[in-house]
Amino acid sequence: MCKEKVIVSACLFGLRCRYNGKILEKRDLPVKRENAILVCPEMLAGLKIPRTPSFFTNEGTGKGVWEGKTRVVSRDGEDRTEEFIKGSKKALAIAKKHGVKKAYLKERSPSCGVNVVYVMDERKKGSGVTAALFKDNGIEVIGID
Ligand code: SF4
Repeated sequence: MCKEKVIVSACLFGLRCRYNGKILEKRDLPVKRENAILVCPEMLAGLKIPRTPSFFTNEGTGKGVWEGKTRVVSRDGEDRTEEFIKGSKKALAIAKKHGVKKAYLKERSPSCGVNVVYVMDERKKGSGVTAALFKDNGIEVIGID
C-alpha cells in the first residue's frame, strides 16, 4: 500500500462523476483514501453529469490530441477536444502542485484510460488525453479496470 500522495480518478473512489451518472462498484485500490487526491478531468473541464460519452476520431488517441491530429467527439457529434485539453491541464496543475509522481486512472476512459481507449466504437491500444499528458510530464500512470 503506497503512502505518498497519488492522483486517483475520482470515479474509482465512488464519486458520481461518470458520463452516465452511475457509481462504479467498489475497487480494491492499492492506495488509501487519505493518500489519494481525487481528480475528474471531465468535471474540471465543466462537463455535465450525465453527458453523452466521448471517443476519439481520426484513428488517434490522447497522444494525437496533444499533437493536434486527433479530436474527441461526443456520440451526438459535439466536438469536445478543447474541454478535454482544459480538464487535463487542470488535472496536471493539481498533480504538480502536490508533487505527485504516480496516478491510478480509470481504464478505457477518453480522459483517464491508460492502455486502452475507444476510437470511434472500437477499443484500441492507447491512452486518454489526461493519461497522455501525465506520461509526458513524468508521472507514472497505472490503469485500473
Ligand atoms: S474516468 Fe476520469 S474523466 Fe471519466 S469519470 Fe472517471 S475520473 Fe472522470
